[in-house]
Amino acid sequence: MSKGANLGEQMARAIDISRLETPSYVTDLGALEANLKLLRSVQNRSGCTILLALKGFAQWSTFPLVRKYLAGATSSSVAEARLAREELGGEVHAYAPAYSEGEMAELVTLADHIVLNSPAQWRRHRAVIQRAGRSAALRVNHEHQEVEVALYDPAGACSRLGTTRANLKAEDLEGLDGLHFHTLCQTNSDALERAVAAFEQKFGEFIPQMKWVNFGGGHHITRPDYDVDRLVRVLTEFKAKWHVPIYLEPGEAVALGAGVLVAQVMDTFHNGMDIAILDTSATAHMPDVLEMPYRPMIVDAGEPGAKPHTYRLGGMTCLAGDVIGDYSFDRPLEIGDKLVFLDMAHYTMVKTSTFNGVRLPSIATHDPATKLITVHKRFGYRDYRDRLS
Ligand SMILES: *Cc1c(COP(=O)(O)O)cnc(C)c1O
Repeated sequence: MSKGANLGEQMARAIDISRLETPSYVTDLGALEANLKLLRSVQNRSGCTILLALKGFAQWSTFPLVRKYLAGATSSSVAEARLAREELGGEVHAYAPAYSEGEMAELVTLADHIVLNSPAQWRRHRAVIQRAGRSAALRVNHEHQEVEVALYDPAGACSRLGTTRANLKAEDLEGLDGLHFHTLCQTNSDALERAVAAFEQKFGEFIPQMKWVNFGGGHHITRPDYDVDRLVRVLTEFKAKWHVPIYLEPGEAVALGAGVLVAQVMDTFHNGMDIAILDTSATAHMPDVLEMPYRPMIVDAGEPGAKPHTYRLGGMTCLAGDVIGDYSFDRPLEIGDKLVFLDMAHYTMVKTSTFNGVRLPSIATHDPATKLITVHKRFGYRDYRDRLS
């Protein structure tokens, strides 16, 4: 997996962390805007529409910037749809594996485009969606696998995400405006090209009756080695062939390499190897490190043994496995040293927990023009208490 690639190091070095409180997520507005500009150029060149998937990045203090470049957002829940409607504006799309009647009653007041996971969900919610005048689509599963890690592969065997061709009858699509697939994760445009071919092969007969299609997220468009020209060609060819508007809804690509997590060394000691305790946590503040799993990059740190002083970096919780990884440094770590974890804007703030009552990292932005860091949010006891009762 390429997460943890050396993304955003130059940007990270330009942030003056000397007076910054820790732990803090800091998103660099310049890096974020560079991503957004690239995404807008894809929209302009291909005629597709790009939405932000809030599931991956929902730092809403940055939405005034996001709004300048993207058409809107897609949501995975009523709460995300509401955030999109109230804080971002533009088009609001929604998809979830299932909606209750109560959720749908609220969702139709917030989302313009609603994607259902199954024909049964469409039958259950059709009347409410149509009465509200919303546009509905079916998520299909073309069963073409491009993702190596099962946790992130919606097209694998026995998937619950999307309707397979075998489970779809032509009459199930009656009244629907769109088809949606999402089967990519951190992939390049060659994977999209194959996914689109699989989509056409399985569901092509239904495309002419559709008003829109959505090719989901997982497009790693802002990664340095991403083949943007090929993406534009795939989208342009699809539009020329089928004459139907295309949506893309990346999450990760919007914020790739655009933010850091700054933590501080709290203690060091030796037990079989040198160990450092940080004021952050893998499980509470960067859960993908354990879930994916992957090894985040740290500014000025190397692989274990590459530099003279190797440490196992551990978090603040009592979970034995709350370990970020082993890293080496040029000099011994000291209490108070700050460490800068790269590429921490996406799938972090949206996934944190207050496990162990550990304080959540502050949420900040850095303006590269003025060099100013603005802390937009600090967390404390109430955030922990209010999630319980
Ligand atoms: C997760 C998800 C996305 C965004 O995926 P990224 O990998 O962050 O680009 C888009 N659409 C759907 C339906 C998703 O589940």
